[in-house]
Amino acid sequence: MEEQRHFVCVTCPVGCNIEAKVRGTELLTLVGNRCARGVDFVKEELTAPRRMLTTTVRVRGAALPLVPVRSEAPVPKGRLLEIAAHLRDVVLDAPVAEHQVVCADVLGTGVDIIASRALERVD
Ligand code: SF4
Repeated sequence: MEEQRHFVCVTCPVGCNIEAKVRGTELLTLVGNRCARGVDFVKEELTAPRRMLTTTVRVRGAALPLVPVRSEAPVPKGRLLEIAAHLRDVVLDAPVAEHQVVCADVLGTGVDIIASRALERVD
C-alpha cells in the first residue's frame, strides 16, 4: 500500500523537509530534498536508519567529571539506547585527548566512540 511520509534529512545542517511516497520499504517519489544525498537518506530511513550518538563518559583525575563523546559515524538507530547504557559503565583516566578512542567498535557496530574534547589531568 502506498503512503505519504515526511522526513527531515539530518545528513547536513540544512535539514531539508522531504515528502516521500513509499510502498513499504520502497521509495517511489520524493520532493523537498536540495541534493541527491536526501534520496540516500530516505532510502536508509526506510530500511536501516542510523543516527550519530552524542553523550558523556565519566573521567577520573580531571577538573571536570565528564567528557563529551560522540560516535565517529552514525550507528543503527535501534541500538542508540543500548550503546548509551554501555557507555555509562565506561570510566576514563585523565588526560583525555580530543578524538581519543573511548570505545572501539562499540558493541560490534564497527563504529568507534571518540572524545569530543580534551581534558587535562589535575593532581
Ligand atoms: S537533502 Fe541534501 S541539502 Fe538537504 S539536508 Fe539532506 S544533505 Fe543537506
